[in-house]
Amino acid sequence: MKRIIASGLVLLSVAYIAKAQQIVQKPSNDKITPDMTEVWDPEVRIVQPGIKDSDAPSDAIVLFNGTDVNKEWEDSKGEPTKWLIQDGALVCVKGSGIIKTKRKFGSCQLHIEWKTPSEVQGDSQGRGNSGVFLQEQYEVQVLDSYNNRTYRHGQAGSLYKQHAPLVNASRKPGEWQAYDIIYTAPVFGSDSITYLVPPKVTVFHNGVLIQNNVSLRGPTVYIGVPEYFVKKHGPGSLFLQDHGNPVAYRNIWIREL
Ligand code: MG
Repeated sequence: MKRIIASGLVLLSVAYIAKAQQIVQKPSNDKITPDMTEVWDPEVRIVQPGIKDSDAPSDAIVLFNGTDVNKEWEDSKGEPTKWLIQDGALVCVKGSGIIKTKRKFGSCQLHIEWKTPSEVQGDSQGRGNSGVFLQEQYEVQVLDSYNNRTYRHGQAGSLYKQHAPLVNASRKPGEWQAYDIIYTAPVFGSDSITYLVPPKVTVFHNGVLIQNNVSLRGPTVYIGVPEYFVKKHGPGSLFLQDHGNPVAYRNIWIREL
């Protein structure tokens, strides 16, 4: 009996050792030198950053620098916008409609600064409302969300009616605020109406991460749920929304990705 048990133990030990050897087996590094895992080309492109982080780096397209709006922007009909330049800022004029970039963009990094009126009027969605539309479809909400409750996925920094911001990083009305947006354009399936890869958005609000690579279900809609079936679209203009409030913008630059 003892002999049988001992034989069994020997067999188990052999099996265990064989298994262990199998697990720890890995390619030998004996013949690998450090330079074999070092990639030099293509060299990473050099970009000269601005002096302040909010300044346009050398490869950005400056969309508004405080003076000429007509160079890069137009109204929805392709005419010069009625939005005003006041103190170096571009101010929405109620009833004049959206403004859009003449250029079209896909995936991008966007820096944009905005300010809601210091004189507080209205509440909820009626206070300092505007918005940044990516690729003509997807709104990053601009709103005075300082002591101003509204539905959570409609406040400043929301992907309107789809994603609430992670936190409310709003400054007081009348103070300049900034969005740094990283946008990845969608990839459409062969049917041209569904996303193979949905659009994705990351947003920093005044330097605070508020949207972390969230996926969108479809273009922004006010009424109803976002469509899962979307007409295929390519690069699009950047829109700034006229929601009837004199929201101001400045220092707008974009890097195509
Ligand atoms: Mg809006």
